[in-house]
Amino acid sequence: MAHRSEVLTVDEKDLPIELTASFPIQPNSEIEFLEESGRSHVHSVGNQSGFCHLSLRVYPNFAAQADCVITKSPTFDAAAFGQGDAAGIRFQPFFIKKKGVKPPDLRGKGLFARGLHYGGLVTPSNVLLSGECDDCEKSFLFSSFHAGFSEVQYFYSSSGLYTVIVNGVEAGKPEDIERKLPSAPDMTKYSYLNPFRCPHCKAAYIDFEKYPEIRAGEYYGNHFPETKLQRF
Ligand SMILES: [Zn+2]
Repeated sequence: MAHRSEVLTVDEKDLPIELTASFPIQPNSEIEFLEESGRSHVHSVGNQSGFCHLSLRVYPNFAAQADCVITKSPTFDAAAFGQGDAAGIRFQPFFIKKKGVKPPDLRGKGLFARGLHYGGLVTPSNVLLSGECDDCEKSFLFSSFHAGFSEVQYFYSSSGLYTVIVNGVEAGKPEDIERKLPSAPDMTKYSYLNPFRCPHCKAAYIDFEKYPEIRAGEYYGNHFPETKLQRF
């Protein structure tokens, strides 16, 4: 039976603040972040189970960043996470209060702008990201891989379901590679400027068609845990 409990409460007069909580989770457990207005941001833990060690930081401008580490232990073990033995989830930041704040318009923007990756700081590969669709407002989990260190390029299928990575590419010629790529398993085409899409409603989440100028800077490629990362 679904069990619901409140684990953290933020008081405006304490900002900036970091709050932490540890609690048990089961596959498909959901973590809900509530704005002051009552608007909620619901994120799933996917197929993870064990104990969720949640950290929530809220800044004086009401921006809220949250992430968690999931381990088998009720107490947090930083070393286990550092060794890759535990999984993490980074949740898309949001504004906990919007009164007097003008949140930036992030529709269709990249993961750095959305606060899901930080420039100059590599996101560990055992961290899943949980984005929130600008259209249907549902969240979705995905994995990111760093394509910036080696000669790797990535392409999304037009269906939004598949990602292919290509090794040993020459920098600056994604269009040439694109022409040689096979179709995705669902027979849709890979293209350099295909958006990364919301898996629920297919709206463009990172909209490279609308913002081609951000494509080169988005050096993390993404894929969904449900579909196998394709290689060419
Ligand atoms: Zn959507």
